[in-house]
Amino acid sequence: MTRHHPWRANAVLLALVAIGGSAAAQTGGRASDNEFDDSHFHLTNYVQEGPSVHDILKLMGKRIGRSTLFGIPLQQTWSYENSGNFAPTYYLQTDAPLYYYSFTDAVIAMEYRSLTPAERARFDPMITGFNPADMYAAAHIRRVLRIFPGVFSGIGEFTIHKEFVSPKIAGEVASLTNPALDSILSLAGEVGLVVLIHNDMDVPFAKAGAEPVFLTQMKAVLRRHPKTTIIWAHMGLGRVVRPVQPSASAPVTEWNPNFGLIVQGILEDSTLRHVYFDISWDEVAKYIVATPQTLHRSADMINRYPDRFLFGTDVVAPRDTAHYFAVFNMYSPLWALLTPEASAKVRKGNYERLFDAARRRVRAWEKAQGWVDRDVGNHR
Ligand SMILES: [Zn+2]
Repeated sequence: MTRHHPWRANAVLLALVAIGGSAAAQTGGRASDNEFDDSHFHLTNYVQEGPSVHDILKLMGKRIGRSTLFGIPLQQTWSYENSGNFAPTYYLQTDAPLYYYSFTDAVIAMEYRSLTPAERARFDPMITGFNPADMYAAAHIRRVLRIFPGVFSGIGEFTIHKEFVSPKIAGEVASLTNPALDSILSLAGEVGLVVLIHNDMDVPFAKAGAEPVFLTQMKAVLRRHPKTTIIWAHMGLGRVVRPVQPSASAPVTEWNPNFGLIVQGILEDSTLRHVYFDISWDEVAKYIVATPQTLHRSADMINRYPDRFLFGTDVVAPRDTAHYFAVFNMYSPLWALLTPEASAKVRKGNYERLFDAARRRVRAWEKAQGWVDRDVGNHR
């Protein structure tokens, strides 16, 4: 009898999964004890630095059950010519360009593999280190899956249009009409990877009453990939990419009826049932909790479509719980207005449904390629 009988390997794997599930429940508390799962979490910052995943586990404690795990695919260049001895750590701190830093995927995979199986059960690593304007991007994603089988559940957060960031990236600018993006989304659909995409719906400081500049292109690309699970990060909003305004006299910082109609249109569109929104980022929370009206409009929308929204923090390399939980706490008034069902889905249920499905599908796809994780149990 061989030592590596497939039946035996499967039995061991199943046992590990079972241990992982129950141990996760012990270390993270019962599922019902966790306040939320984090669908949008950056372990590292724009210069590829951050805490270890072990530090993050401590910060998660029992408040956070599960979390996505990704870095930032863009590295801010420290250009001596531009900022001298000042070392920029954020894209707004220098005029020097950003470039795609593919090694981030290896960093994330190795962080994940340094965890015990029980700890791993709480994370969903994501591939981000590709240039979405490059026809070779899909090849990179395949390569990462081959080298690190058993690790990744999704791709992203990656970015097409982003205020202040897109024009700073070296090389060809990303576009929603680039077939490279279609090949990425097709591969994700084939493999079962959840897609977390950042794409501003509009340009900064858009003219009131105008159609959001990138909305039509975005809907078209989403419609071309109905078999891919896609989370549109931040509902397409940004720091200054604010909810579209019905008129020049309308308040500029609010979730207003026109923006609500756009979101509702997507939620009701039968060709966009595979599209979800995350409400991550304090810049998005500021629009939702701006006034009692914005808060009620947002809560009504989420209560009507509770399966389509996910909470995420969008924190970057948090050092303490105050930083980590700030966005969740900012949403306290929203949680209070949601039905118990909607609140539970947005905080946890939708994450678990989408990412559990992704884990199953991606592992099956990898297995079909003959790519098997030989690293199970090889943690420190
Ligand atoms: Zn983010």
